[in-house]
Amino acid sequence: MTVLKLENINTFYGHSQALENIAIDVQAGEFVTILGANGAGKSTIMKTIMGLVKAKTGTIYFNGRDISQLPPWDRAGIGIGYVPEGRRVFPDLSVEENLRMGAYSVRDDKVIAANIEKSYVLFPRLKERKSQLAKTMSGGEQQMLAIARALMLSPKLLLIDEISMGLMPILVNHSLSIVKKLNDAGLTILMVEQNANKALKVADRGYILKTGKIIMQDTSERLRNNAEVIKAYLGE
Ligand code: ATP
Repeated sequence: MTVLKLENINTFYGHSQALENIAIDVQAGEFVTILGANGAGKSTIMKTIMGLVKAKTGTIYFNGRDISQLPPWDRAGIGIGYVPEGRRVFPDLSVEENLRMGAYSVRDDKVIAANIEKSYVLFPRLKERKSQLAKTMSGGEQQMLAIARALMLSPKLLLIDEISMGLMPILVNHSLSIVKKLNDAGLTILMVEQNANKALKVADRGYILKTGKIIMQDTSERLRNNAEVIKAYLGE
């Protein structure tokens, strides 16, 4: 079953075109990554899917429904979770208050408490630090909090924008292993990433984005063994 489908998406900032004829699909249970260099348009794809940036043309389907005209909060409400680039936690709120903000539309306190407990099982570090202000947490801890917050509405699809940004390699590996664990438990993932080596180790399939266009798509295994990809993205 197709969870997410982007058809012929063209997105502009003023007169400059950031995305050109983007077509992407993500199947239920899949872990898909979009790779590309700085400025390729990766964040713009995520923002377009969330409705934070409006596509000029094209259609976005979520579970078969055209969501192109829905505002961002409704897209979150029907099951699209979003971990923005640079983590963006609420700096002056505690860990637990950040999680509660993530559950903003949930009315039932029991559901909120159960979801907070679930994130503490997934991230014991957050439980130890539940009263600490988010701004005083380390980069890796803030990344965990941003992921946990995005899970508070029990999304069906999780969008993740550059988990590796500004993190030490060991923390990147840890964050990716948690995302992989969520995927193994059934959550569908679409993750944009500059670190192609690491992303292709955990994802099932990848797209390569270059100056706003998809130039290649394949299984992670085939991309890892593709000479052109190795030369341009896996060289380090
Ligand atoms: P990075 O890895 O550096 O975050 P990216 O692949 O996520 O890059 P985007 O942030 O999507 O790239 O940017 C794609 C292009 O759109 C870039 O040329 C960028 O300068 C431009 N752009 C992004 N946001 C805006 C904006 N708000 N106004 C104007 N141009 C923008």
